[in-house]
Amino acid sequence: MTAFGTVFMPEMAISWFDGSRWSAAEIVPSDSLKLHPGAHVLHYSSTCFEGLKAFRHGDGSIKIFRMDKNLARFANSSRLLSLPEIDVAATEKMIIDIVRRFAEDVPEVPGSLYIRPTHIGTDPAIGKAAAPSVTSCQYVLLSPVGNYFSGNGDDGLRLLLEEDSMRCAPHMGMIKSGGNYASALGLILEAKKAHNVDQILFCPNGDVQETGAANFLLIDGDTLITKALDSTFLHGITRDSILTLAREMGMDVQERQLTIEELLERAARPDCEAALSGTAAVLTPVGTLLHRGKEHTVGTGKLGPTTAKLKKALNDLQWGHREDSHGWLTAV
Ligand SMILES: *Cc1c(COP(=O)(O)O)cnc(C)c1O
Repeated sequence: MTAFGTVFMPEMAISWFDGSRWSAAEIVPSDSLKLHPGAHVLHYSSTCFEGLKAFRHGDGSIKIFRMDKNLARFANSSRLLSLPEIDVAATEKMIIDIVRRFAEDVPEVPGSLYIRPTHIGTDPAIGKAAAPSVTSCQYVLLSPVGNYFSGNGDDGLRLLLEEDSMRCAPHMGMIKSGGNYASALGLILEAKKAHNVDQILFCPNGDVQETGAANFLLIDGDTLITKALDSTFLHGITRDSILTLAREMGMDVQERQLTIEELLERAARPDCEAALSGTAAVLTPVGTLLHRGKEHTVGTGKLGPTTAKLKKALNDLQWGHREDSHGWLTAV
């Protein structure tokens, strides 16, 4: 199996902002992009992106999941990075047009077509460390994908609880921006090497936050606990979808602060479950938490029944196996 996100459709949609207007979108080869080496993005990280998926339904139709939410977050990220304002309707059209063009190549479920809109500052100006790029470029890449994490998906991930550092600067957490991943990478590589973990669960000052690229959910019996939205972490659309489905199932969904202390206390209970949520990860079980040299198994350490039920509910909706009662799917 090829690694997640390494296969691309040969063309992408692209549009340029010249300081006053967005150009008409074009379809161009996806293997290169012409940029000035002094481009703002390459020096001062004026970049944000989105990740969403298109699914092939049994009747052959192609549906994009929660595109409006992703577009809203993309516009917000652009704004918070002082990039030019995106034209949401034009970006939406770019996404639909390029997915339609490659509709034949959308894999059968459980695979999907991963969609990666990207927005970068293009001013050729290395003196703009403290000034925004007034020109920019937006493009939409497509990548057919299978499962994000290797393995059968039933074995729980191993996470290191990190109290002493953060994933990124606290005011940047809700922006899907390249610099945040670079900021966390050294810590993640170190943790993998020293503790043989899959990911770090960032818990600055004991406050359970998220991993490098997915949100964290604790499922204890009928209760689901996850951090309440604030600027320090990424507001996942999978998180929002799972919370909605959990509420509909009658679960007690609590968006609030979760401390490491409470997490470890609940994790010790035999029916406790934990999971990472994200467009790529979907809902991936967490089996072990490593804290100050001690291993804590979460429940059975394997995929639990509630995580499985929530994941199935989400997949069923995405795949057209149950009614889309929230209007989360857009036909292309
Ligand atoms: C993308 C991302 C998530 C998950 O967001 P979704 O909208 O569910 O895909 C969570 N955390 C981080 C840091 C992310 O980059």
